[in-house]
Amino acid sequence: MENIILVRYEEIFLKGLNKNVFENKLIKNIKRKLANMAIVNVRKSQSRIYVESSDRDFDIEEAIIRLRKIFGIASVSPVAKVPSEYGIIKDTSLKVVGELLSKKSLFTFKVEAKRGDKKFPLNSPQICADVGGHVLKNFPQLKVNVHNPDFILYIEVREETYLYSQIIPGARGLPTGTGGKASLLLSGGIDSPVAGWMIAKRGVELEAVYFHSYPYTSDRAKDKVIKLAGKIAEWCMGLTLHIVPFTEIQLEINEKCPQEYLTIIMRRYMMKIAERIAEKSGSLALVTGEAIGQVASQTMESMLVTNDAVTLPVYRPLIGMDKNEVIEIARKIDTFDTSILPYEDCCTIFVAKHPVTKPSLLKTLEYEKVLDEENLINNALFSTEIMEI
Ligand code: ATP
Ligand code: MG
Repeated sequence: MENIILVRYEEIFLKGLNKNVFENKLIKNIKRKLANMAIVNVRKSQSRIYVESSDRDFDIEEAIIRLRKIFGIASVSPVAKVPSEYGIIKDTSLKVVGELLSKKSLFTFKVEAKRGDKKFPLNSPQICADVGGHVLKNFPQLKVNVHNPDFILYIEVREETYLYSQIIPGARGLPTGTGGKASLLLSGGIDSPVAGWMIAKRGVELEAVYFHSYPYTSDRAKDKVIKLAGKIAEWCMGLTLHIVPFTEIQLEINEKCPQEYLTIIMRRYMMKIAERIAEKSGSLALVTGEAIGQVASQTMESMLVTNDAVTLPVYRPLIGMDKNEVIEIARKIDTFDTSILPYEDCCTIFVAKHPVTKPSLLKTLEYEKVLDEENLINNALFSTEIMEI
């Protein structure tokens, strides 16, 4: 009996002639993600992917944890692969059920058999009935329930036979690298990591841009963002983090522009700098964690003024979400606990008592004129720190 992992994908089937491109990318990503584990063989067969290793130390559970963070995978199952001989299949059924029952207490089951190889002497209903009886005899605590069983023993008879009892959900989405690249404005908050994850889920590669206002924001705030970038990187096959020094710009805006327009002008500068970085690295969009109405700088009017600063599209995947919905995803993708660590963020330091909630674009442009934009932006870009995560 060989232990292997069956990987299923779904949305890729809709891709018609491009299907191969998506499948090959997915295989490549799987190989990369498992590369340092053991020698693994990743092969495609009949619109599924099989991950196999002849290495005794191959840690299937760890491999499954990693596979669940690869976009494009709909579900995975640890499977036992055996020759298509009925005696062996029956024996292996007991092993698979025994292993499952050693981990969980379950009481009812059914067998679902699929006979792909029509030369096999028994048909599917015959396999179900006979293996079902065999399992019952050996595990007297179990009962059959065909409508709502605690678990299903799947038996797929092909050239070889595959047996499994668990279908573990994957991340879904599309394989990283099939959707171009985007630049995520990553702060230390709850929202932007979730926004990045949602875009990455659609197969988009990410880079992250963080604006650091040292010494108003500490090195600990920066470490927190690096940690968050690491969490996101697990989902999107790694990323580049740009750490942009932002203090000079904030001090200039603070000194020269009207208080109630500080935040909106600062946000326009973030966009402009992120756009320069994006253009250099081939990103096709900027991504933020904004949602309508969350704060003054996220009203429809404010976002109109923010967007005016750039020509690249700005994607805001959280735009219609409530905070609780965002938190739910943040927990699921394991960024929440890092996001709520209590470190100051740059926007909370230079905040006006009464920021405009409905900024006028004309006024904004007028107020901005006093700033030496080219110089400020070039200085910031010149001192930007770049990290591969
Ligand atoms: P978050 O939880 O993502 O910090 P927020 O609710 O605190 O969001 P804002 O501070 O208004 O909202 O920021 C809105 C968006 O602007 C963030 O989601 C992020 O994309 C971007 N942003 C804010 N501050 C920074 C920063 N210091 N560096 C990079 N991007 C930032
Ligand atoms: Mg924030």
